[in-house]
Amino acid sequence: MSDWEELIPRPRSRFLRVKCPNCGNEQVVFSNAVNKVNCNVCGAELAEPSGGRAIIKGEIVAVFE
Ligand SMILES: [Zn+2]
Repeated sequence: MSDWEELIPRPRSRFLRVKCPNCGNEQVVFSNAVNKVNCNVCGAELAEPSGGRAIIKGEIVAVFE
C-alpha cells in the first residue's frame, strides 16, 4: 500500500496516476473510488474501496488536482 495521504493533507478527492506493480502500465485512478480498479492491460488490482479513500495497490506516480 502506498502512503500517499502524507502527500495530500487536505481531505479532498483527487485523481492519481498509478503504476501497475505487475506490468508497469500507468493509468488514472480516482482517489475515492467506490469500486475496485483493475489494470487495463493485465487485470491486476490497482485500487480497492475502503469506506472513503481507496487503498492504492500500485505506485503513485502523479497526483492531479
Ligand atoms: Zn498491469
